[in-house]
Amino acid sequence: MSDLTELYQSVILDHNRKPRNFGALDGANRQADGKNPLCGDSVVVQLHVEGDTIRDVMFTGQGCAISKASASLMTAAVKGKTRAEAEALFARFHSMVLGKSEGTKEELGQLVVFSGVSRFPVRVKCASLPWHTLKAALASEGVAAPVTTE
Ligand code: ZN
Repeated sequence: MSDLTELYQSVILDHNRKPRNFGALDGANRQADGKNPLCGDSVVVQLHVEGDTIRDVMFTGQGCAISKASASLMTAAVKGKTRAEAEALFARFHSMVLGKSEGTKEELGQLVVFSGVSRFPVRVKCASLPWHTLKAALASEGVAAPVTTE
């Protein structure tokens, strides 16, 4: 195992143990629920969107280390971004976890820690679930219909 892989794993474990932006969001005006039945992950993403900008984002739910760390790092990555910027980031992230492109730190920042997920196809949905849920919340007016990876 390379040093880089170990570093990435330690970031994922840290975000799993101490998820950032975890809890209910006061003043949320968008929300979506996501489920990944294959693994048993569930996540609720709440947003405070003003105009086109994600002013604040928080999540709750439970699942495996990958899904929780992904939700935690996602909230940190999209806060303050516009809807278009967040969706573009998801497109790059998704392409990386599917192994279709190599993620770079320049493009993805800390999200690059999930680059190894592409070697574990069953984990791709765990890593993507929070993002699919975010996308549904962004597209909704209020509470979105539930999202599932299946
Ligand atoms: Zn999972």
